[in-house]
Amino acid sequence: ASKEFSKMIEAHELIRKFYHHLLVNTKDGQHALEYLLNRGFTLASIEKFQIGYALNSWDFVYKFLTKRNFEPELLERCGLIIKREKDETYFDRFRDRIMFPILDQKGNTIAFSGRSLGADEPKYLNSPETAIFNKSKILYNFHLARASIRKQQQVILFEGFADCIAAERAGVENGVATMGTSLTSEHIALIRRNAEAVTVCYDSDSAGIEAAYRAATMLAEAGSHVRVALMPDGLDPDDYIKKFGAEKFNKEIIGSSLTFMSFKLLYFRRGKDLQNEGDRLQYIEEVLMEISQLDKAVERDHYLRQLANEFSLSLEALKEQQRQLYFAGK
Ligand code: ATP
Ligand code: MN
Ligand code: MN
Ligand code: MN
Repeated sequence: ASKEFSKMIEAHELIRKFYHHLLVNTKDGQHALEYLLNRGFTLASIEKFQIGYALNSWDFVYKFLTKRNFEPELLERCGLIIKREKDETYFDRFRDRIMFPILDQKGNTIAFSGRSLGADEPKYLNSPETAIFNKSKILYNFHLARASIRKQQQVILFEGFADCIAAERAGVENGVATMGTSLTSEHIALIRRNAEAVTVCYDSDSAGIEAAYRAATMLAEAGSHVRVALMPDGLDPDDYIKKFGAEKFNKEIIGSSLTFMSFKLLYFRRGKDLQNEGDRLQYIEEVLMEISQLDKAVERDHYLRQLANEFSLSLEALKEQQRQLYFAGK
């Protein structure tokens, strides 16, 4: 099996280098390079993340690798080529896409994610799960970010590759991203082994905010110190950096991230009209339940006072309500 694994990695490594060459040095890759530069990618990040381009061809990868003595069956198991049912011939999985190599913790290329250049669907096409690639275990950029993560004892968690790369350009060296899936217990174990704290920096659209709430909850339950960074107007980190620059991103987004509790206070308000009595009472109850779950008395006191102030309620009334909720087993 280990011979098979090293052969699979070797195939990925070879084609990664060639994809990169096609993007950076060839006329065939020029439109892809222009696309990336227009989006704000720099040559330095294209180099650092070894971004490449897969030609608009049905059999380029097939030919390139079989010529170098890789068996088609092995390449199919890698997910690099796909077998046609009708005549058992093969075609390339990735065609006319920007190629993001996915590295394991040792820095071996084990998979790719390919982004379409235009509006072609799917926007991102990933390698399938293979003997060497398990999406639920891999965090994009972990290999490069690891030293910084350990040193800072902090992970910045993004939703997308582009966000991770834009943030790196902005000076964030401890950023990683999931592979378009939700955060798994394996991801969390990997994070917990390497850092105490996590800042969840997902897209600030409604899907991203829901996903951030779920990810932050799982991380907090696993014992991480969690903060949540939010951007205005539904932007994602890549959009934000392009629009407002690196300095503002570091200062006003990462540097002004919210404690998980403060994020929850905003989160519970979504879809509620606090002028409406029913909504307001529901909000107050949700917040009281959260407050009672905080470990530190000082923090409980802080948030209770904040709630009391905001709704002109007495602390005594809030505490009484909290006791009632507790005994109601809510
Ligand atoms: P871009 O900035 O290039 O448009 P994004 O990262 O902002 O990409 P989102 O739509 O926010 O893209 O999705 C977040 C992540 O989810 C992507 O980085 C990718 O990993 C994954 N993803 C998005 N669309 C798809 C898809 N159609 N199939 C598989 N994964 C996807
Ligand atoms: Mn290069
Ligand atoms: Mn996004
Ligand atoms: Mn984006």
